[in-house]
Amino acid sequence: MQPMITSKLPRVGTTIFTRMSALAAEHGALNLSQGFPDFDAPEALREAMARHVMAGHNQYAPMQGLAALREQIALQVLRCRGVSCDPDTEITVVPGATEGIFCAVMACVAPGDEVIVLDPCYDSYQPCVELAGGRAIHVPLRQPDFALDRERLEAALGARSRLLILNSPHNPSGSTLSREDMLYLEALVQRHGLLVVSDEVYEHLVFDGRAHHSALQFPALRERSFALFSFGKTFSVTGWKTGYCIAPAALTAELRKVHQFVSFVAVTPVQLALADFMREQPDYPATLAAFYQRKRDLFCDALHASRFSFTPSAGTYFQLLDYSRISEEDDAGLGERWTRERGIAAIPVSVFYEQPPPQRLLRFCFAKNDAVLEAAAEILCRI
Ligand code: PMP
Ligand code: GLN
Repeated sequence: MQPMITSKLPRVGTTIFTRMSALAAEHGALNLSQGFPDFDAPEALREAMARHVMAGHNQYAPMQGLAALREQIALQVLRCRGVSCDPDTEITVVPGATEGIFCAVMACVAPGDEVIVLDPCYDSYQPCVELAGGRAIHVPLRQPDFALDRERLEAALGARSRLLILNSPHNPSGSTLSREDMLYLEALVQRHGLLVVSDEVYEHLVFDGRAHHSALQFPALRERSFALFSFGKTFSVTGWKTGYCIAPAALTAELRKVHQFVSFVAVTPVQLALADFMREQPDYPATLAAFYQRKRDLFCDALHASRFSFTPSAGTYFQLLDYSRISEEDDAGLGERWTRERGIAAIPVSVFYEQPPPQRLLRFCFAKNDAVLEAAAEILCRI
């Protein structure tokens, strides 16, 4: 008899990021699709990594993460957000925010529970919810500014609502939640007894003088949130797949129960290197906003001569471009065609929706060397 497998995720294929990066490589296209820097991480960080590997720090770290790194995380959160957290009971180092999100969802979603996600939403959320036996309820963000739609959010809440997944700064739109939004959400989650997963991996990438408002800074959110962060974004080491989760002790205890059987630990020399770098250069994250804002501006300024319309991104390292004056083709088809024919790859925004609205948007990653951004803009101006 043939062994049979019934898919737990029948509607899921290979992620759009993997597909577009592969297509870009196949056609030698400029790859502004998948979100990662094409420049290297700080030299001191890479040197620290090499040093720790060569010094023989190559065995398992403690399940919750190395104490030295969790202490540096607590110091950074205090410095950047003015929030204290206990490194022993509230901080868990995870092999990437993706793993942390999965563990948080697994820890708190039971079969039949409803989880609110705000579309367009990051592609990992819905599969996590489904694997936990829950049901994702998709609430679209407002058009065209990707702000919270309070009416639709409230209409989606019901007796089975268990968890709200937030993401600010927001991938793919680059929008950010304001302080007023956070105060509103505080009241909302209290009223409905919701838990929160707050995906803040782009916390340091906010532009034009905006502040990032972390769920950790709002008491009623703090007491019910798993807040997720990624060293990959902050230190330009997406390939090191390391991040952390901050949550109250009771939530952290449940997250760790799952984490210890998903991956058990994050990579040891990576954690040692990050701890050294954070100790030596505590102000590094504060340099990121200006660094990426300059790249955003370079890209956007070079596109003023193009037929795209756009509003400069408020955060993240993504810029949306509206191509409705250029083509009526759907974004997925167009994204693939331009990769093959024009030599430039981007991410179609419709894939982040349960029901894509009638819009024509592509997402471009501007975490790239200036020359690549200039070359990309040149191609886009010719379209
Ligand atoms: N959330 C969002 C919104 C992201 O864009 C990413 C990017 N990769 C992640 C989570 C995952 O981060 P990590 O690479 O640390 O798993
Ligand atoms: N977060 C990255 C992006 O949005 C990609 C991560 C991945 O490939 N899974 O492009």
